[in-house]
Amino acid sequence: LTGGLEAAWSKLKGEEVLTKENIAEPMRDIRRALLEADVSLPVVRRFVQSVSDQAVGMGVIRGVKPDQQLVKTVHDELVKLMGGEVSELQFAKSGPTVILLAGLQGVGKTTVCAKLACYLKKQGKSCMLIAGDVYRPAAIDQLVILGEQVSVPVYTAGTDVKPADIAKQGLKEAKKNNVDVVIMDTAGRLQIDKGMMDELKDVKKVLNPTEVLLVVDAMTGQEAAALVTTFNVEIGITGAILTKLDGDSRGGAALSVKEVSGKPIKLVGRGERMEDLEPFYPDRMAGRILGMGDVLSFVEKAQEVMRQEDAEDLQKKIMSAKFDFNDFLKQTRAVAKMGSMTRVLGMIPGMGKVSPSQIREAEKNLLVMEAMIEVMTPEEREKPELLAESPERRKRIAKDSGKTEQQVSALVAQIFQMRVKMKNLMGVMEGGSIPALSG
Ligand code: GDP
Ligand code: MG
Repeated sequence: LTGGLEAAWSKLKGEEVLTKENIAEPMRDIRRALLEADVSLPVVRRFVQSVSDQAVGMGVIRGVKPDQQLVKTVHDELVKLMGGEVSELQFAKSGPTVILLAGLQGVGKTTVCAKLACYLKKQGKSCMLIAGDVYRPAAIDQLVILGEQVSVPVYTAGTDVKPADIAKQGLKEAKKNNVDVVIMDTAGRLQIDKGMMDELKDVKKVLNPTEVLLVVDAMTGQEAAALVTTFNVEIGITGAILTKLDGDSRGGAALSVKEVSGKPIKLVGRGERMEDLEPFYPDRMAGRILGMGDVLSFVEKAQEVMRQEDAEDLQKKIMSAKFDFNDFLKQTRAVAKMGSMTRVLGMIPGMGKVSPSQIREAEKNLLVMEAMIEVMTPEEREKPELLAESPERRKRIAKDSGKTEQQVSALVAQIFQMRVKMKNLMGVMEGGSIPALSG
């Protein structure tokens, strides 16, 4: 444990038995830290209650410090909360194993398709990808390029064929070629809508998949658990893949998914390279969450930097879900002003140990985002909807900023996700202070 948590917990030193009284303060810190890490309030409540119940009355073992003992209890409970064991991918007993990927736009589905193929190839399985995002020709091209990168065939049928028909034809092709695993990419939307769900249901009926995996962006925070639940109720899923854990990487998403939805996280993505996909290990994640930097001092610092009036203005916008690209820019610059990225990242949960290359990567990402926002018109900055609705506008921004359309789309998707996330966060913070924002 580091920073504030460590300070509070060190007060336990010298106690011989853990009591309701002497663990009250450390447990308050845990509660706060979990809320800051974007874990949903009911989950936090249950968790704190469960740990407290176990800890009270525990005699402190000779040679073990009381705070260490409490850490161990918290750690074990965190692991349990996340499902305990690694949840393995399932394979079909005969014929090809079919994996259907679903998820909102920009979360990393298409990237995961290729990453998963790369991952399974290393286990000696032959793979084939099916391009099922028929709304953007660019999405098909993207999958074809990624498929080439990992040397895996991609089945495409253009954009005029219904996804369910593409699925049927693709599966036939896979059977003909005796492929071990078929992975189907699908189209996402900025938000859940009926069209997307119906389409997924149709595809699922045709494929009869062994795994239906919901791809979720770790940045979604506590909203991730609700998303997994909704998709599970609507289409029935077998698990989730949490992507972009290399970025903002709050522990919240990882913590609540299993508890809230009953579905395990099976894999995590922690980078843009094809090799950056691995099984989800609850015990490693627990260690990471416990080793998190001091969230509170991060928030305090952010508040110091942001002028009071800015803060109030921002708060109003967050409450009315008007958070726009101007605010986004203000935020990222405030973070930059707080000092070196190294120090700031060290204070973000889950980023306890950041390598210099990760820092360079984060700084690069900031520059990329700034470049795109800078070429937006004032109207576009204020109304991200304009960009969500218009591929032409996104194309222009990509061209003017020298970035790819993919990057522009990801940025647009991100701001909508941030709106949702911040609204939820405001909901749990009674005082209504400004939440820590991701860089
Ligand atoms: P889709 O709309 O769900 O298909 O999302 P994409 O696969 O096109 O990914 C959107 C963006 O996120 C791309 O720029 C990816 O490179 C990026 N991305 C995907 N997974 C990860 C990840 O684990 N870490 C990072 N840093 N970026 C990722
Ligand atoms: Mg895609």
